[in-house]
Amino acid sequence: MGKKHVFNAGPCVLPQSVIDNTIEALKDFKGTGVSLLSISHRTKGWDETMDECRALWKEILDIPEGYEVVFLGGGASLEFLYVPMNFLEHKAGYLETGVWAKKALKEAKGLGEAFAVASSADKNYNYIPKGYEIPKDLDYFHITTNNTIYGTEIKEDIDCPVPLIADMSSDILSRRVDVSKYAMIYGGAQKNAGPAGVTFAIVKKDALGKVSRYIPTMLDYRTHIDKLSMFNTPPVFGIFVMNEMLKWLKGLGGIDAIHAINVKKAETLYAEIDRNPLFVGTAAKEDRSIMNVCFVMAEGHEDLQDEFLKFATERDMVGIKGHRSVGGFRASLYNACTQEDVDALVAVMQEFAKIHA
Ligand SMILES: *Cc1c(COP(=O)(O)O)cnc(C)c1O
Repeated sequence: MGKKHVFNAGPCVLPQSVIDNTIEALKDFKGTGVSLLSISHRTKGWDETMDECRALWKEILDIPEGYEVVFLGGGASLEFLYVPMNFLEHKAGYLETGVWAKKALKEAKGLGEAFAVASSADKNYNYIPKGYEIPKDLDYFHITTNNTIYGTEIKEDIDCPVPLIADMSSDILSRRVDVSKYAMIYGGAQKNAGPAGVTFAIVKKDALGKVSRYIPTMLDYRTHIDKLSMFNTPPVFGIFVMNEMLKWLKGLGGIDAIHAINVKKAETLYAEIDRNPLFVGTAAKEDRSIMNVCFVMAEGHEDLQDEFLKFATERDMVGIKGHRSVGGFRASLYNACTQEDVDALVAVMQEFAKIHA
């Protein structure tokens, strides 16, 4: 069996060093003689891991004063509910750029008045809406910066006249973010920040406390900020691996270093898609994501789709089947996916084209 090139959309590929360090901790957490799976989350060694993880988030993303980072369970899908619970009083606006955005909007509608300010549903979400106006009377405006399924991305931090909230599940830690422009940034860790089972939320503290509803204790960000994500048993395993991921990222040179690597990977693959007569990209060029690259067979070659999937799978490519709502292929180029992985995929696409084009 050759070395696998993993392009899974989530959970994501993790660096080997992160996996190796996790295996060690599973056997013996920090020399305590106790497995990571069995330590008390009230032991000193664990406190240090939590502190380190929080500090690394702040350092790597250059998070300003006045924000706190919390780690929770429930996936990004539960954060969809946290958002209106904590921020919706009168009215909220959402940018509808895909099914994740739609699901987030649905939770807000369940708690109050919420609507799509703009949508790209007319073209199966293959672009980011532009030229829309954000109403000034919203409690918040919600965006999904990277649309994992469709391969579109909002690559800049937009100017917003109301508190801006972003689901950054699948592009967090891939580029520099001006956190000061956001009231809240959240996501599941398993796309680019760690394993499944833990979420992150970067919350501007003074944006909280503005709603009059009763907020259940566990759904109140203030609970988790006050108790430093230890109000209840935190997802110990997930936080440990996330912390290893952040240490790896810092060791690599931090956010600008990884961004340069990510841009190069994406450019390599998009260049091949644009050059290769068998394939065509599905996302609008100006909105192409550097994390999820979506492509289909070009017109006239549709019948080769299953064959290419088989061909690539036999050559150790993992996870390139596109989401069922777009079809074709999707290669997710998250942080731990390497230039070598992308070069290997490109070589397979070229080999396939030599046979069939
Ligand atoms: C995967 C994903 C989600 C859902 O995450 P879960 O942790 O599975 O709930 C939400 N938003 C985006 C952008 C995603 O990619």
